Amino acid sequence: MGFFSNWQMSRMAKYEERNMCPDCKGKGIHYFAGTEFYFGEPLQCCGCNGTGLYSEWVNNS
Ligand SMILES: [Zn+2]
Repeated sequence: MGFFSNWQMSRMAKYEERNMCPDCKGKGIHYFAGTEFYFGEPLQCCGCNGTGLYSEWVNNS
């Protein structure tokens, strides 16, 4: 048994195929809608440095 399940692996492969950051789904930012602290304020994704690219995410992890 690996750390990732087959389901997660196939999901990751899709992100890799489309060069999309898995953390922010290619958006480059995170939304915290509905919280008291972030109300509609987007926050730059630290997984891909706001680029939204899988290649950037891989270099970061
Ligand atoms: Zn990201």
